[in-house]
Amino acid sequence: MGQALLEINELAVSFSTQGGEVQAVRGVTFAVEKGETVAIVGESGCGKSVTAQSIMRLIPEPPGRIKNGTIHMNGKDLASLSEKQMRGVRGKQIGMIFQDPMTSLNPTLKVGDQLTEGILVHQKISKNEAKQEAINLLNLVGIANPEERLNQYPHQFSGGMRQRLMIAMALMCKPELLIADEPTTALDVTIQAQIIDLFKEIQRKTGVAIIIITHDLGVVAQIADRINVMYAGEIVETGTVKEIFYDPQHPYTRGLLDSVPRLDGDRTQKLIPIVGSPPDLFSPPEGCAFAARCDYAMDVCLSHDPEHTKLTDHHYTKCWLQDKRAQKPF
Ligand code: SF4
Repeated sequence: MGQALLEINELAVSFSTQGGEVQAVRGVTFAVEKGETVAIVGESGCGKSVTAQSIMRLIPEPPGRIKNGTIHMNGKDLASLSEKQMRGVRGKQIGMIFQDPMTSLNPTLKVGDQLTEGILVHQKISKNEAKQEAINLLNLVGIANPEERLNQYPHQFSGGMRQRLMIAMALMCKPELLIADEPTTALDVTIQAQIIDLFKEIQRKTGVAIIIITHDLGVVAQIADRINVMYAGEIVETGTVKEIFYDPQHPYTRGLLDSVPRLDGDRTQKLIPIVGSPPDLFSPPEGCAFAARCDYAMDVCLSHDPEHTKLTDHHYTKCWLQDKRAQKPF
């Protein structure tokens, strides 16, 4: 395989607080190929959003700091770029979609002005051509009567339509990568499904790669090619959708799957929540970060950080159960 579109290597991000340093992301490594969808899944506070914001260099520095690692996009290390250089990457090479569309939309400006202005900043074209591009974008994201809609303000759009608008804004400069941070969390189930279908359609039409950050395994199953499961600032399991859903090997991944309704709609399934809470990231444990919540924890788990074990070409897990000396519980 050639060079990936995005390659993150050993990324570590910390935040300085009065109480000490919070190690929010602790050695995260993954890649995104051109045109594929990679999901990052985990509970809130697991570091998934900080990872996404670090790619865009959007973490406030200070108190945040990329302590270690590289973030290569098309071979260029974003972690070492100046703020000025990053402005050429944000929007242009990487578009970002947030949970709350109003973070990207200006409530006081007509939608058409926001879109055409954005297009004109990045492309040397006439105002009329920019307006036509804006119409094309609204068509692409499935907003009907685009010419009329360009004259409206964001508050005149419903929640789902605002989300479509935000996706249009993120696609304005034809980025190669879209990062969507909990893009469907605030929406009801029907609209969620429409937005997921829209992502798939946009990807088919434009070839854009997508990183989707979510706590919702249902969303992931519908859209992702590969999944990274994050826990306490680390990726504890990574694999294809099939591997993660049908052959999960990390107890945390199994716990996540047992705590949500199954995709096949099995009504006899009992939902089992994961008991306990994640460790304090001011001083992460010496051994496995999941040990205090894990039914399979062994002595070694408390004292030694597990290594990554390769199970298949795409499937890796970070758990002592994969050690050849361990008994296989499942
Ligand atoms: Fe559980 Fe040990 Fe595996 Fe951690 S390393 S998930 S504690 S079995």
